[in-house]
Amino acid sequence: MVNVVWFKRDLRLEDNEALHNALLNQEPVLLLYLFEPIVEKDPHYSLRHFRFIDQSIKDLQNQLKTCQTKLICLHEEAIKAFQKIDEMLGIQSVFSHQETGLSITYKRDKELQQFFSKKGIKWKESINNGVVRGLNNRKTWINSWENHMNKPCYKFSAQSNQFISKKQAERITKELRVWNPIFKEDTNFQQGGRSFGLRYLKSFLNNRYSNYQNHISKPLLARTSCSRISPYIAWGNLSIREIVQEIEKRKKEFSNKNAIHQFSSRLRWQAHFIQKFEMEERIEFENFNPAFNHLQQQKDSFYIKAWKKGLTGFPLVDASMRCLQQTGYINFRMRALLVSFFCHLLWQKWQLASNHLASLFLDFEPGIHYPQLQMQAGTTGIHTLRIYNPIKNSYQHDPKGEFILKYLPELRKIPVEFVHEPWKLTPMEQRMYGFKIGKDYPEPIIDLESARKYASDELWKIIQSQKSKKAGKKILKRHTLRG
Ligand SMILES: Cc1cc2nc3c(=O)[nH]c(=O)nc-3n(C[C@H](O)[C@H](O)[C@H](O)COP(=O)(O)OP(=O)(O)OC[C@H]3O[C@@H](n4cnc5c(N)ncnc54)[C@H](O)[C@@H]3O)c2cc1C
Repeated sequence: MVNVVWFKRDLRLEDNEALHNALLNQEPVLLLYLFEPIVEKDPHYSLRHFRFIDQSIKDLQNQLKTCQTKLICLHEEAIKAFQKIDEMLGIQSVFSHQETGLSITYKRDKELQQFFSKKGIKWKESINNGVVRGLNNRKTWINSWENHMNKPCYKFSAQSNQFISKKQAERITKELRVWNPIFKEDTNFQQGGRSFGLRYLKSFLNNRYSNYQNHISKPLLARTSCSRISPYIAWGNLSIREIVQEIEKRKKEFSNKNAIHQFSSRLRWQAHFIQKFEMEERIEFENFNPAFNHLQQQKDSFYIKAWKKGLTGFPLVDASMRCLQQTGYINFRMRALLVSFFCHLLWQKWQLASNHLASLFLDFEPGIHYPQLQMQAGTTGIHTLRIYNPIKNSYQHDPKGEFILKYLPELRKIPVEFVHEPWKLTPMEQRMYGFKIGKDYPEPIIDLESARKYASDELWKIIQSQKSKKAGKKILKRHTLRG
């Protein structure tokens, strides 16, 4: 009999409770990663995620060398893989972290639970980053999050004889499809793996953090002044607990206390948002607040295409989208702007934006993605409605147009003072600069003022309705933090 450690979004050896627990037992341990076809085909995911996972696994394999063992990576659906391994070696227990995932993985987990029960296999799931399963409200959540963060991190230590033999590993890789992909490197993207995650964290805490709150909303400066650790957290190269404890250990070193405080609160938001999704998985498809089902939003393929391609005629919106496409990262404010532009100004349903954005965010984390998407779209009814003005944000957060010009090369011909509103160039000026609006760069696809007014009027009608207020009260009762 063997015990299996099933690596999911916890691609690390350190502070890995599932791995730690498996190693406490007598049975040989099989380390497993499943690249599941259901996930591979899902539109939330794209090549950039798979490459990041592959890089994380390679890094992990390197660290496993001292134990003379390997993570076995299979390209199989979970049930098939576990069934076959059970037939070949006999599984006593499966150890993994709880997953707050999309409906496809939730369904898979439920089927797997039945399969394990039938076979008498125990499935021991550990809490992931302080997110608790089965909660009805958030009365005790902060305490339990803090307790989780205060517990010592699990140190990885193992001997080669604690793992399955080479022969057993070979049997599995002969009988099942191995996942051994080859990806072309792309240096525009952050590279996966714990070693890189630790490097980003170190450089942030050593000096990059000092401008955190000043630059957090600025699309270009945020790229260096924010930590950029989100993909390493999303794929589990780093645990939140080890980051929280590292900050606590070094707290006397930080001269800018406010910056480090702002950063630390966001580490708590990470689980706070995932907890919402854990308790409300329906929001992958439905409005958080059902009163917003009354919104009349017609799908407009022309608008959607322009937004996806970064061709809306609003430079900050287009630069943000193209930056995301090219690098997998954009800061929080620009993510909010992209959503607000799509849902409010183009008046499209958030459901039509979700897969596209998820497939572009290298740090795609379902539990943050959906609650944030709905919060920015204004469909929770409990948060302040923010309809971002793309022109005002452009002057405010990219005053010299450096970010815009980096990602919209077609605007480099015109004077900097026009990059925020290129349509203001007169026809004569356009001829002078060899630039034609509508040809080199689109005219704005909507009239900003009337679109803002329309969205605001329509959304406020719902926000003020009895139905929205009643549903809002229920949401608050269930999700407001206490203590
Ligand atoms: C529509 C939308 C979708 C988003 N989708 C994701 C997603 O899929 N994955 C993701 O990690 N973040 C998501 N965010 C939150 C946020 O934009 C990113 O976490 C942040 O920009 C990542 O950059 P950073 O690592 O430099 O963050 P920092 O500002 O350095 O923060 C440190 C960590 O705190 C957490 N964090 C920061 N801001 C938030 C926040 N607002 N909500 C929850 N956790 C936060 C992240 O884990 C982040 O890595 C989304 C925001 C919006 C508006």
